[in-house]
Amino acid sequence: MASSPLIIPVFLPNLGCREQCLFCNQKAAAEGLPSPSSVCNFIGASLADIPYNKKNREKQVAFYGGSFTAIHRDDQVPYLKKVQPFLASGLIDSIRISTRPDALDEETLSLLKEYGVKTVEVGVQSMVDEVLFLSKRGHCAEDTVSATSRLKRRRFEVGLHLMIGLPGDTCDRFLQTLDRVIELKPDFIRIHPTLVLKGAPLENLWRDGRYSPLHLDEAVQWLRKGLPKLENSSIPVARIGLQPTQELERDFLAGPYHPSFRQLVDSAIFFDMATSLLQNSQKNGQALFFCHPKEVSNLRGQKNENIMRLKEHFKLSKILIDGKQELPRGTLVLQAQEGEVSIHRKSYGS
Ligand code: SF4
Repeated sequence: MASSPLIIPVFLPNLGCREQCLFCNQKAAAEGLPSPSSVCNFIGASLADIPYNKKNREKQVAFYGGSFTAIHRDDQVPYLKKVQPFLASGLIDSIRISTRPDALDEETLSLLKEYGVKTVEVGVQSMVDEVLFLSKRGHCAEDTVSATSRLKRRRFEVGLHLMIGLPGDTCDRFLQTLDRVIELKPDFIRIHPTLVLKGAPLENLWRDGRYSPLHLDEAVQWLRKGLPKLENSSIPVARIGLQPTQELERDFLAGPYHPSFRQLVDSAIFFDMATSLLQNSQKNGQALFFCHPKEVSNLRGQKNENIMRLKEHFKLSKILIDGKQELPRGTLVLQAQEGEVSIHRKSYGS
């Protein structure tokens, strides 16, 4: 993926949402909803705050937080219009929106094209209809298939959002979901774990014992199996896990939340790679690994956990790790008695 654009996010909470998805606690309140004219001031102020060394980056205004294209057309247009002077002057390069797969018909896409929308992020969540139904999404997997193909035909950049651990979800269903979205060839994917948040309908189910979120370890295991599939398909993964925010800290009740979730998954993958190399080579009580310097911490794991587990499992007295700048990211090399053996995380996942 080319360097990611600098995003100026405008949050329109629940605007356009027909019903409330089980996991969502965005309030459908009019207060807190920015007016189209306040958006103009916000963009101007945000542009003024961009540090000098980032001024040359691509800049996008993003309408996030609701289902932008499910809003009545007459309400979408004023927001889009407010960005037009910035597009015309070149201060902003394009617009991105987030929305639902069942709110992207041809007429809607024509409107988005007309107003300079480049990127559409689609809330897919799962490609298993039962999971979507139990989560009260109000759309089915086929809506995602048809919306994505329409978007790609019209040359939008398409991002698909997935969730793991929704009601009815299993690791196999998540892996099926990945296979189906890989076939759709989106430009990027984001994956979030399902969390129980204050005020979301899921809170009541959880309090009544009718919903149990994934444990952190489980969520990491699902992603450890799934992430290499995406890497093999060369679809960029823009984010795994949720960005720590004040709202999240305030509303979080239960579920697999960790501020360094992605690193937990990468460490689990490196643990598997190291295990595979050690299993298939001669050892003399010690092991010496090489990897890219930026991946040494992935191999070590949080608090050196990987090293301790590998030592115990393979009865090793010492594990040494040497960072080598010339090694491609994702490669792990073991200096074994019979010579160097290596593995790449892509081949591990195939
Ligand atoms: S998840 Fe998205 S579509 Fe569902 S209620 Fe929340 S903002 Fe609306």
